[in-house]
Amino acid sequence: MRLMSTKAPKEKVIFHIDADAFFVGVEVAKNPKLKGLPVVTGEERGIVSALSYEAKALGVVRGMPISRVKREFPHVIVLPGDYRSYVEYSERMFEIVNRYAYGVEEYSIDECFADFTGLDRTLKKSYREIAEQIKKEINDELELSVSIGLASTKVLAKIASNWVKPNGLTIIEVSTAPEFLAKVPVNKIWGIGPKTSEQLVMRGVKTALDFSAKDISWVRQNFSKPYEAIWHELNGVFVNKIDSELKTTYLSIQKTRTFHPATNDKTFLWSQISKHIEDACAKARHYNLVPKKISIFLKTQDFEIVTVSATLSAPSNSPEILAELAHEKLDKIHTKGILYRTAGVVLQDLLHNYTSQKDLFGGTNKADKLDIIHKQIDALEDKLGKRVVYLASTKKALDHKTIGTEADELDRDLLFL
Ligand SMILES: [Mg+2]
Repeated sequence: MRLMSTKAPKEKVIFHIDADAFFVGVEVAKNPKLKGLPVVTGEERGIVSALSYEAKALGVVRGMPISRVKREFPHVIVLPGDYRSYVEYSERMFEIVNRYAYGVEEYSIDECFADFTGLDRTLKKSYREIAEQIKKEINDELELSVSIGLASTKVLAKIASNWVKPNGLTIIEVSTAPEFLAKVPVNKIWGIGPKTSEQLVMRGVKTALDFSAKDISWVRQNFSKPYEAIWHELNGVFVNKIDSELKTTYLSIQKTRTFHPATNDKTFLWSQISKHIEDACAKARHYNLVPKKISIFLKTQDFEIVTVSATLSAPSNSPEILAELAHEKLDKIHTKGILYRTAGVVLQDLLHNYTSQKDLFGGTNKADKLDIIHKQIDALEDKLGKRVVYLASTKKALDHKTIGTEADELDRDLLFL
């Protein structure tokens, strides 16, 4: 087997390991009776956040409103997300990979990259056998199924793991790479977004093979540095390093809390949401993430969830901007006379290392000013502790802090995919 390009200065063997329908996979592992049934999660958010292959076969898709699922697919089992379990299974899955490789990059809650170069000799097994063993261990110990891709670069490994799903194992070798790349449209290449895909297609570059066959000078002339890296990686040259320090890509940040007694007090509910927005924004800033979308939700005493979303005119992780938007939306989900027991916030469509488009002539807009202020507050809070400064609307939630939060429902303070 020849995984590596002869042009590569350092020969590498990269594994990309990706759990199949992860959230639902965990639900089935927790409750084996669900095996083989159409199952979706996301009830608490009001939209499908994950679905089993059986639900997919019926026509359910990610992002579909739960109300529609219940109406059109009455046999589908709808579950609320259990993020504590997802994080636990995620850690156990990465722990299994860590038995074999050093410095695993936890790319998201259910995906990782790892460098296996040379382990075939150490373990006296072929790379395929090692991958099969990892699949078996994850399957035996966690009842989860994963798909694994092997190649000489991260970009190729990602294509490989996605090739056969679920329960796939795909190896892309230098000799077979063109056959794979010819079937991958440019918008499916990891790291190439919809805008760039459009530009590429307009220039006649439709597949990953078309892109990889272009001259590097053409890529340099027309696109920025990251695309150069993708070009190299498609050609089998390892450029994108494995980063075991960084947990980069998360789809959303969620903050929720259950309170006692259930209440209809809008001012109180708003202060809870306001506090969640501040906490979620602080977390987002800590990870250099900026959301494009925010959802707020309330859960009634009868466990019904009402949710509303808003898209920001420009991505921002300043609570002032998100709070203004969320406040306008609260009326849409708050009904007089109904008692609510949980309030929550989800920041979605997170961008990593986003920089805003500055006004012309170096002037700064409101969002940029808030951005600067929050950097200063974050630095201050690093020194003096949390909540040196907070929004006035949050105060009521802080005063309420000590009143009984149910022990079985801890604050959800998670990043998840
Ligand atoms: Mg996955």
